[in-house]
Amino acid sequence: MRTPGMAVFKHENVEDFYELGEVLGSGQFAIVKRCTEKSTGNAYAAKFIKKRLSRVSRRGVKKEEIEREVGILQQLQHPNIVELHDVYENRTDVVLILELVSGGELFDFLAQKESLSEEEATQFIKQVLDGVQHLHSKKIAHFDLKPENIMLLDNNATLPRIKLIDFGLAHKIQDGADFKNIFGTPEFVAPEIVNYEPLGLEADMWSIGVITYILLSGASPFLGDTKQETLANISAVDYKFDEEFFSNTSELAKNFIRQLLEKDTRKRMTIQDALNHPWIKPVNPRQALVKRLSVINLENFKRQYARRRWKLSFRIVALCNHLTRIMKNQKSQKLPEQDGRDCESDQEEETVKRRPRTRKRSSTS
Ligand code: ATP
Repeated sequence: MRTPGMAVFKHENVEDFYELGEVLGSGQFAIVKRCTEKSTGNAYAAKFIKKRLSRVSRRGVKKEEIEREVGILQQLQHPNIVELHDVYENRTDVVLILELVSGGELFDFLAQKESLSEEEATQFIKQVLDGVQHLHSKKIAHFDLKPENIMLLDNNATLPRIKLIDFGLAHKIQDGADFKNIFGTPEFVAPEIVNYEPLGLEADMWSIGVITYILLSGASPFLGDTKQETLANISAVDYKFDEEFFSNTSELAKNFIRQLLEKDTRKRMTIQDALNHPWIKPVNPRQALVKRLSVINLENFKRQYARRRWKLSFRIVALCNHLTRIMKNQKSQKLPEQDGRDCESDQEEETVKRRPRTRKRSSTS
């Protein structure tokens, strides 16, 4: 029942202790439902993770991977990171009882705004950095930082609180860097991931660079028409700040992004560097004024974000159809296989349209 060093996964029926409510979201092998603890009346989110039921199967998540996610969540305690309350297990699922994060995704919240200065934008980025600093101080890399995993605790406060979620790919980094066959969402992964090089905390910093680029402009720096093109763009660090999208962006903000989208992991900003960067922490009144006067390209952000949402919905419908087919096949004893957790499905269905490409470079490193 218990792996050494791991939490006890309770084997009682979760529904004896929690009233389950509506579906809040879903992932490749997980479904998340609102729930209420019967003894306290407190609201939580129950993440049902499908277990991989046999060694040969590629469906579901391996038990040791679920234990890793749980083990990592147990080590974390920070206002900007989702909290783990309890863990249950039955034959088919492990159920994580998580802090309820009810404010939706940060990007959805921003897409509803009429205007947004860089100063306001950095108040959110700073919270992301604070959460990541907590992770990195414990030598934990998230490895799947992307807009969908940056949520808001609630969206009523003047400055809503950021919560980082989904630690399914997170790893403890031993001895600085480690070879790992980890793959997040193509658009956001670092060149060392694309090139199967040793991975460390630096990979998260790259993703923060991509997220900031999108937040400020609506455009996505490396997104190509195919997954292969996206990965080639990342490996070649082939991006630029098109005037069309960045005409109102401060040099300070571009410098912040440049220092994160740095191929050489030794030259890339660390979390501490990022927190001390003058765009986040101005060192003189002029820098503070620049941030107040510069605005993010909300018009393009909204346009591209609507496309992104539409494509994600399309992907969920496609996934449902796929699952229906699997269930039908299971009934007739034919079991088609599905990709494991570490590899993201094809990118066709994903994300923001990248800026129009005008040139090709083989490498900038
Ligand atoms: P993926 O396959 O994308 O890696 P996953 O299977 O690991 O996802 P999560 O990303 O953790 O699952 O959760 C899926 C969705 O459920 C999230 O995108 C979010 O909408 C919702 N969700 C997850 N955790 C919470 C929470 N604590 N509170 C509210 N909603 C949540």
